[in-house]
Amino acid sequence: MTILLMILIVVLALVIFMLIRTTQSGRAPEPVSLAERPLVDTKEVSQHLSQMIQIQSISKEGTGKTDPQPFLDIHTWVENTYPLLSSRLEKITINTCSLLFCLPGSESSLAPVLFNAHMDVVPVDESTLPAWKVEPFSGTIREGYVWGRGAIDMKGQAVGLMEAMEGLLRDGFLPKRTIYLAFGHDEEVMGFEGSTKIVEHLKAQGVHLAAMLDEGGFISLDGLPGVSEPFAMVGISEKGYLTLKMETSAAPGHSSQPPRQTAIGIMARAIALLDDHPMPTHLQYLLPTLKSLSYLLPVGLRFVIANTWLFKSVLINNLTQSQQLNAMLRTTHAATMINGGIKDNVLPASVTAKVNLRLLPGDSITEVMQYVNKVIDDPRVEISVDEENGGWEASAISPTDTPAYRSLDLVTRQVFNNVAVSPFVFLAATDSRHYQSICKNIFKFSPFMLSSEELQGMHGINERISQKSLTDMVVFYMRIMRVWGDAEF
Ligand SMILES: [Zn+2]
Repeated sequence: MTILLMILIVVLALVIFMLIRTTQSGRAPEPVSLAERPLVDTKEVSQHLSQMIQIQSISKEGTGKTDPQPFLDIHTWVENTYPLLSSRLEKITINTCSLLFCLPGSESSLAPVLFNAHMDVVPVDESTLPAWKVEPFSGTIREGYVWGRGAIDMKGQAVGLMEAMEGLLRDGFLPKRTIYLAFGHDEEVMGFEGSTKIVEHLKAQGVHLAAMLDEGGFISLDGLPGVSEPFAMVGISEKGYLTLKMETSAAPGHSSQPPRQTAIGIMARAIALLDDHPMPTHLQYLLPTLKSLSYLLPVGLRFVIANTWLFKSVLINNLTQSQQLNAMLRTTHAATMINGGIKDNVLPASVTAKVNLRLLPGDSITEVMQYVNKVIDDPRVEISVDEENGGWEASAISPTDTPAYRSLDLVTRQVFNNVAVSPFVFLAATDSRHYQSICKNIFKFSPFMLSSEELQGMHGINERISQKSLTDMVVFYMRIMRVWGDAEF
């Protein structure tokens, strides 16, 4: 009886302890007073975005493949549309198509900050045209939205930045810190001709950036099941990229007397082994994200997150059910191409496949290759880094206990009605990864609200941005330019 009572007391104490942890970790931050909103002409900003969308600046893979003319047209359009930006900022044309603007600060001892937006867009898949409600490059303004390719990726941000700078200059803006606006022209095809060259230029000038802001996370309206409040996701790192080429060959011959396994079977087995043995999960990158959003989450999940010392595997099992959250927990792999066989009754002489992996910080290319080799463990399958697509490591993690991050967090809450703000590892690639050698505080955040449905427009169908989001974005950029421009960090 006493033993039973003791067990009961221990269990009760444990539950109380875990409940205390839950309430302590699940608190909302103190609300901040909202920012004064400068006047922004929504109609004019929308028209400007519409004009930029109409310039079909599509980048193409391969040196010399991209038509420079649309980019040169954008340069002229910028000059005509933003007279103050064009006259007061130093304009540097990089590699014919990219643009870098510089507003010198009054205190040369402060390191500059940089805002980035790529000018190029992805093409529109012709087969999807019937599903578009507008012509993709028409820049139609209707139903409170500006429609078209690039609206959210990322001509909206480019216009937002230029509009904000123009507005600030109109008010006599003179920052202490130098501010750069960078507009690359080939982000969608890796950024080696645009951003890479911009960084080379800055490096040659001896520039080291105090902080930079590029596209990335956004303010999600419905991104987490069970969460009804919007929340902002600020990328502080991005996953690495690796494409592996797998090859196998076998003796060709008549399929009437086949070996136990053909080259296709060997490759299929290799891929199936990989699918059955995904890379191990690492909770340490997603956990801070979940913790800072904890106060928005259902109480059960909050309890589990606050007590990962006990529920770690329960939590991971739960999270990996979602494709998106699974990708935040581990290096993912996806077999994306396969090629082999020439005829139904001929044994294939060779089969090649490509597997695309996205690397979580901490998983290096070397380690990932070792893992893949160990899992497949088949000398008949040759595995190498795909020459065509190659790979790069995950980017370094920008610290969040710095004035640069804290001020970004603050401005986001000031402009977006005390929205929850959370750091996270961004899943896709951005231009900002090229800046790592000259910047330690790299933030990947697109300052506007998006529903899951609107998000599908990115590289997809009916890409659009609401005019309200566009206006809020200008307000946000004006404020962050003022704050970063004057803060002493
Ligand atoms: Zn983009």
